[in-house]
Amino acid sequence: MKLFIDPGHGGTDPGAQGNGLQEKNLTLNIALKLRNILEQEYTGHSIMMSRTTDKTVSLTERTNMANNWGANYLVSIHINAGGGTGFESYTYNGSYAGKAETNRLRGIVHDEIIRQTGFYNRGKKEANFHMVRESRMPAVLTENGFIDTVADANLLKQDAFLNKIARGHAVGIAKAFNLKKKSDSGTTTYYRVVAGSFVSRTYAEQRVNELTQKGFSSFIDIYKQAGTTYYRVICGSFMERQYAEERVTQLKKAGFESFIVVVTL
Ligand SMILES: [Zn+2]
Repeated sequence: MKLFIDPGHGGTDPGAQGNGLQEKNLTLNIALKLRNILEQEYTGHSIMMSRTTDKTVSLTERTNMANNWGANYLVSIHINAGGGTGFESYTYNGSYAGKAETNRLRGIVHDEIIRQTGFYNRGKKEANFHMVRESRMPAVLTENGFIDTVADANLLKQDAFLNKIARGHAVGIAKAFNLKKKSDSGTTTYYRVVAGSFVSRTYAEQRVNELTQKGFSSFIDIYKQAGTTYYRVICGSFMERQYAEERVTQLKKAGFESFIVVVTL
């Protein structure tokens, strides 16, 4: 199951603003928490995000990313504005082949978010929004409280409440797509930083040496995919994504491109 998570707005587009809050920061925070819960607690899925930092991404770029990747579900996270309170969700209001299925999935996700957050339920709605119209897979856009309503903004200022919103999305998506809970039989999730992946062991060993010269310790991990053996240079294995991301940044400064893989052992 391929899940595309879209934190609304970002970069030069702050989205809605009010009560000292900016929509783009809240949506990113919730989206990162959502990814974390799904990675830590569920298996059988992969996740792509339209952005993981505060950067400008156009609406077309977002749906192109999801379409080109072949996502099975798209969730676009937003915060409402304009006066009001509570939660509402949107699917595309046009007529299209997968409409009944799109609304069935949305029903499960919507109800779980209401259950986890205790938000006032504004209803399951339809609209002609780009993110739900231009995506070729079932898609939902969620509006999580009103930034310009003091009571909602006070909730959105609490990290614990953002966790509830993220958990509502996570459990709802897990239920909708029958994602399996990771068994707690001693399995652990690691975030590994891959600083080079080679078909030749010699090149991988060279990379290990280059990294050593710059003060990074690393090891070679053998990875097989579609009959090909890759020698992956692992430069750090962490139990929290945040630390793996810091390592990617350090490596970039030292001139090495790297990426993170999630491994369950
Ligand atoms: Zn928005």
